[in-house]
Amino acid sequence: NGSASDDTHILPSPEDLKLFKLSQKYTAEATKRLRPDGVDQFIPLKKSGGERLRALAEDPWVDHTALNAKKCPVAEGTIYKFLILGAGYGGLLLAAHLIDASLVTEPDDLRLVDAAGGFGGTWWWNRYAGLHCDVESYTYMPLLEETSYVPTHKYASGTELREHADRIATQWNLHDKAFFRATVKTVRWDEASQLWKVEVTEDRGPSEPSRELSLQAQYVLLASGILAIPQVPKIPGLDSFSGPIFHTARWDYKLTGGTPEDPTLTGLEGKRVGIIGTGATAIQVVPKLAKYAKELYVFQRTPSVVSWRGQRPTDPVKWKTKIAYKKGWQRERRLNYDLYQTDAAEQGQENMVADGWTEMPAYSGLLGSPRHPIVEPTPDKIAEHVGRLFKLDMAHSERMRARTEEIVKDPETASKLKAWYPCWCKRPTFSDEYLQAFNQENVHLVDTDGKGVDNANQSGLVVAGKEYPLDILILGTGYVTPAVGGGSPAARAGIEIYGRGGKSLDDKWRNNHGAATLHGICTNGFPNLFFMPLAQSGQAVNNVFTLDVGAEHIVHFVACAEARAGQGAVIEVTSPAEEAWTFEIVKQAAWHSSMAGCTPGYLSNEGEFLRHQQQQAKQAQDPAAQFRQARHGTWTRGIASYLKVLQGYRDEGSLQGVEVTART
Ligand code: FAD
Ligand code: NDP
Repeated sequence: NGSASDDTHILPSPEDLKLFKLSQKYTAEATKRLRPDGVDQFIPLKKSGGERLRALAEDPWVDHTALNAKKCPVAEGTIYKFLILGAGYGGLLLAAHLIDASLVTEPDDLRLVDAAGGFGGTWWWNRYAGLHCDVESYTYMPLLEETSYVPTHKYASGTELREHADRIATQWNLHDKAFFRATVKTVRWDEASQLWKVEVTEDRGPSEPSRELSLQAQYVLLASGILAIPQVPKIPGLDSFSGPIFHTARWDYKLTGGTPEDPTLTGLEGKRVGIIGTGATAIQVVPKLAKYAKELYVFQRTPSVVSWRGQRPTDPVKWKTKIAYKKGWQRERRLNYDLYQTDAAEQGQENMVADGWTEMPAYSGLLGSPRHPIVEPTPDKIAEHVGRLFKLDMAHSERMRARTEEIVKDPETASKLKAWYPCWCKRPTFSDEYLQAFNQENVHLVDTDGKGVDNANQSGLVVAGKEYPLDILILGTGYVTPAVGGGSPAARAGIEIYGRGGKSLDDKWRNNHGAATLHGICTNGFPNLFFMPLAQSGQAVNNVFTLDVGAEHIVHFVACAEARAGQGAVIEVTSPAEEAWTFEIVKQAAWHSSMAGCTPGYLSNEGEFLRHQQQQAKQAQDPAAQFRQARHGTWTRGIASYLKVLQGYRDEGSLQGVEVTART
């Protein structure tokens, strides 16, 4: 009998067995999707093979006539103090904080440059039917306290989010400071003048030739976004499809009917519509298409996790008494939201937002957590860390699969819509309409079993030898990963940046020893160049929180430097200081081992972690590549902890590790 109890002692618990089986299923599903071409399976829309596809990248919303009639906001020969690349929420936050800090005093002190035809970035380009923010708008929309704006709903629509960008531009007087339709190509440090030379192409529409301009700026601030370059998979024959095609980031309302404000898509009536992709975009689009298309075919490679939404109008009383009830409420609410995604909420603590995002402590697998120690890079500690996260995720993931089964009536379709990966592997989605749409007779799920669409031809798409004839094809195929070019801020903006001695920023990131920054916002050899935090910084699910923290910190550097060296300050982080910060990041890198089991997607750089793990198993991994990867990690104690570190640095006040000189 004694031996029986010993056996029980060594037997895994039923929960451990379940987890083990689940992790095997997850690995099998991820491996099925792992492709040797990784990110190269895609191409930016504007660089794709056929002219027709390339043209789809153009700005559908720009008013060339109005912009051509306006006085050009920039002139060659003028020295701009701040040149902000990007006029989305990031660029606007930088501009507003610079102005509020009294760093913009002259008319030529500030310019925003953007390829788009207006303010808003993501919310300028994306106007697809069903578009809303996926995190609560009260925490997401920037500068709500300063603008006194009350969002109409818990999740604001795309139009409302774009109008808010205009509101910020108006309040901070930015309309005549924005150079639109202007694509930055090269940013080069000029040692003699100690200024940046910025090469820009201005698109003046079909009736005028484009213009090449060379601008000069003391500071260049990059706010070029993380999901700004629409991409298309290299599906053979795609260009030969004879019907209309468009990408969701450039919605074609002339074709579909309706407007962003009123998605009555009558143009789809009687039509067979296909959409490729089932990511966060498709989850919002599909219910709208399902309402109008005669037949809708949803081509799925990997299902999304679809949680509940709970959209509702803002209650004006609650707004005044519980939400915007005191100065500093928005930062407090953002931090409170973040607690729940970084596994840091205390028992009994108030959950201010209380939505689907706050039911996912395992999302800390991506964001990090202040609650858990830094993961030592040893096999047993890594196994313990990943095991803990799987355990933390299991109940939620099972609930999501059960939710799918409850909503989708056809068991086979329901089974194909279930997601087999932990929540941190892909951005989760929230909808009370998407899964329901598959109960409509006109909606067909074409599951490709992880393989993707085989090819396209004149009449439609082909999957597993079966042809699906279509009248209209919509590409919901996402964006170039922000990890492009090893995560270099230059590659992310699609530009070349040359610093001191003509050194390329991409080269520093990709070919030398890898990323090196102070706090994720500046790098040695590139004076007066700052970028919004991504690698080597704290991240939040609410991207605007990260942008706000980044803008605040960048402005602090400039304000301190000016206090010390006057208006012509030249700021540069020293090499030892950036190495010291990078070392802090490298120490935390083993946290990201949680990404190794992830199904490919842009967050896992199309399975790079899994590929590395498999190479490692074959002992084929290059240690230098491994070290470079570790340097590209994030601050894995969560954004609240990152913010505390930045605050401590600012309070100390001496700009440690930064050299400040004055332009001569
Ligand atoms: P963007 O809004 O992407 O703006 C960057 C701007 O830089 C663009 O207008 C682009 O044209 C310009 N630009 C880039 N390179 C160049 C160049 N070389 N020359 C000139 N101009 C250039 N995040 C959330 O937290 N919650 C959400 O709900 C959410 N929803 C999203 C929905 C969609 C469809 C997408 C694509 C992303 C979403 N995101 C969301 C992420 C979103 O991108 C950020 O929240 C935020 O809006 C980014 O702001 P940004 O200013 O940093 O970048
Ligand atoms: P994603 O990259 O998330 O989705 C692209 C989709 O295209 C995936 O389902 C992908 O499958 C599929 N796909 C790619 N190639 C093929 C192929 N060859 N055959 C079949 N399918 C293919 O892009 P999204 O635009 O959906 O979202 C990007 C990000 O933007 C989100 O993660 C989110 O951060 C943000 N966003 C937020 C929204 C919000 O709710 N406010 C709305 C929209 C976007 P696979 O997964 O297998 O790669």
